[in-house]
Amino acid sequence: MIVYILSFCIGSCFGSFFTVVSERLPLGLSLIRPTSHCTKCQTPLKACDLVPVASYLYLKGHCRYCQQPYPKMSFIAEIVTGLLFCLLTATKLWSLWFIPGLLLILTALLLSLTDILYLLVEPVIFYPLTLCTALSIFLIDSPFSLHAIEGLICLLFLAGLTKIIPNSLGHGDVLLLSSWGLFLGLLELNLVLLQACLLALFYGLISGRKTKAEPIPFVPFLTFALISQLIWQFGLIVH
Ligand SMILES: [Zn+2]
Repeated sequence: MIVYILSFCIGSCFGSFFTVVSERLPLGLSLIRPTSHCTKCQTPLKACDLVPVASYLYLKGHCRYCQQPYPKMSFIAEIVTGLLFCLLTATKLWSLWFIPGLLLILTALLLSLTDILYLLVEPVIFYPLTLCTALSIFLIDSPFSLHAIEGLICLLFLAGLTKIIPNSLGHGDVLLLSSWGLFLGLLELNLVLLQACLLALFYGLISGRKTKAEPIPFVPFLTFALISQLIWQFGLIVH
C-alpha cells in the first residue's frame, strides 16, 4: 500500500511541475522566475500552498490571500499524473527497458496540457523529447524499435487526410501521430487513433459544446489511448 501512496505523491509532484512547464514554455517564459504566485492577486505562494493535491483540497481550490478560485487544471493534472504513476507501479513498468515507453507517455502528457491551454503541440517540448525517445531506443535494450517506413507512411497519410478534410487534424497532431507511428508501428497506431477518435466523439456528445466549429484539444484523447495501448501491449505480460 505504502508503495502506491509514494507513487501517487511523486506522480502528483510531476503533474504540478508539468503544469508549470506547459503554462510557461509556449509563452517563452522562464520556468524558475517568477516563483509560483496567485495569478489574480500576484501574491507569491508559500511552500505550504504548493503541496500537490493537498493544498488545493485544504484551501478548497481558493487562494489563501484573495479568496479567488484557482484554475482546476493544475489540480486535475496532479491527480491524473499521481494515478498514472500508481498504474505504472501496479503494472511493473518502472524498468530500464521501458524507458522509451515512459518518454512517450511523458511527452504525451506535457503536450496534452499545452493542447488544453493553447490548442498547441508545443515544438519546444515535442522535438527534443521525441529525439530523446529515438535515442533511448538505440541505446537501451528495449522491446521498442524504429519503424522508419511506417512512420513515413503515417506522415504522408495524415498530411493527405488534412488536405482532403481540412481541419480534421492539426499540424501538430499529424507530427505527433507520425512520431508514434515511427515508434509503435502502423497497427498499434491505428488502434490508438481509433480509440482516441471514439473517446473524442463520446466527449463531444456528452459535453454539449456550444458550436460544432469550436475546436477541442485532441492530444489528451490520444494520450489516454496511447497509455492504454502501452499498458495493454507491455504491462500485462510483465511480472
Ligand atoms: Zn490570490
